[in-house]
Amino acid sequence: MTRFLTLFANERGELFEHPGLGMLGGTLDSWVLPEPGEMIPLPGGSSLVMVPEHYPVGWDWQHDRAVCLESDPFEGKGRVYAVAALLPQGFTRTYLPVGVVPPGGGLLPLLGYAAVGLRGEQVYVAAIQTDRHHKWHPRYYNTEGLEERIYRRLQASPGNRILKHLSHCARHYSCFTAQNIFYERWEGGIPSMPACNAGCIACISEDHAGVAPPQNRLDFVPETEEIVEVGLHHLTRAREAIISFGQGCEGEPSLNYLRLAEAIRVIREATGEGTINLNTNAGFSEGIRHIVDAGLNAMRVTLFSCDADNYNLYHQPKNYGLRDVENSIRYAREHGVYVSLNLLTFPGFTDREEEIKKLRDFIIRNDINMVQLRNLNVDPRQLQSGLPYGGKARGIVGLLKALQQIKGLRVGSYSYPVPGREGNSCFDGGLKVPEPVQHNG
Ligand code: SF4
Repeated sequence: MTRFLTLFANERGELFEHPGLGMLGGTLDSWVLPEPGEMIPLPGGSSLVMVPEHYPVGWDWQHDRAVCLESDPFEGKGRVYAVAALLPQGFTRTYLPVGVVPPGGGLLPLLGYAAVGLRGEQVYVAAIQTDRHHKWHPRYYNTEGLEERIYRRLQASPGNRILKHLSHCARHYSCFTAQNIFYERWEGGIPSMPACNAGCIACISEDHAGVAPPQNRLDFVPETEEIVEVGLHHLTRAREAIISFGQGCEGEPSLNYLRLAEAIRVIREATGEGTINLNTNAGFSEGIRHIVDAGLNAMRVTLFSCDADNYNLYHQPKNYGLRDVENSIRYAREHGVYVSLNLLTFPGFTDREEEIKKLRDFIIRNDINMVQLRNLNVDPRQLQSGLPYGGKARGIVGLLKALQQIKGLRVGSYSYPVPGREGNSCFDGGLKVPEPVQHNG
């Protein structure tokens, strides 16, 4: 068995490995010793962080038991913390960090903590690469020239509230799709709707579970002209251009269907360039039909589960259900829209046999083009309290393999220009799930 050592940090944030304790990986309802195929060297663009409130736990091989470090094992005193990695886009977490929270301990912030361990001199993370991370590598963002670009753009369009809002997201949340609007490249976000018809547990723009969301929601509904101005500018200037309605700083865009449909029509009368994409929960089928009829090219539907009860438990839908989501997807597919699932992925749940079976049937039944794996950033305790316990899980690598067996399905981590609308891109028509790295440990 390849051994990864437990990593922990002291109160000064100094990082240590424990020579006698093996790293454990967490799932929704278990702790395991990770297999080499579930671990990769920590990729560039990752950050190592302390896990708030969590005492580190490791595996004592000598006595075959889990051990919780309640104080610094080297100094004999002082608080110590579990350590985890935050991954760049393109990597799917296979395990959560393992730790013990003292009674009354608060919930974790909505971040994608992934378990880490040490082997030799190299820090490894419990993850697998599911897409190229070139375009989303942090080194291409928050660059020196960004501020100047934002300033010039706001000067050129002083009345456009969307640009003003996106300048806040670009500066204060380091939002990559907001920054791409100012960099005039790749996927740019255009938020337009404060309201939502769902109450997702881990919503990142509204507090639904007692954890402060990392972003504020926009507080206005832009005019069609404001949407057209930003959209047209991006599609006609950006490399591999995508404009995406449905951002982390808004509610459900399809509720704004009249303005979005009008904006899409006006944009398409002016240019055939690029891809117009909608990130949505697809619950409001009437709105989706209007937007599809207006000329939508791609749609990404966020899903926690293809089991109606588990769907309702997580998304807390208001006046719609999973059946409405399916109807919206079918309508879009019948009208040539490229449809992806934004699969909220949580180790120990999404990879359960029953969940995989229902997901597979859903994909085939609705002719889904792509599955994007999204690490679900939520404290496991918030899911444990509602979800049914157990059920055999295959592991995230097993989930990926199951998806790979579905003919014609693309698996990745983010949206691409729709085939035929790439301009000078490198679209290769379907990412093969990479074989886990063989560790000659
Ligand atoms: S659909 Fe989006 S905006 Fe609405 S509650 Fe869910 S995560 Fe939040």
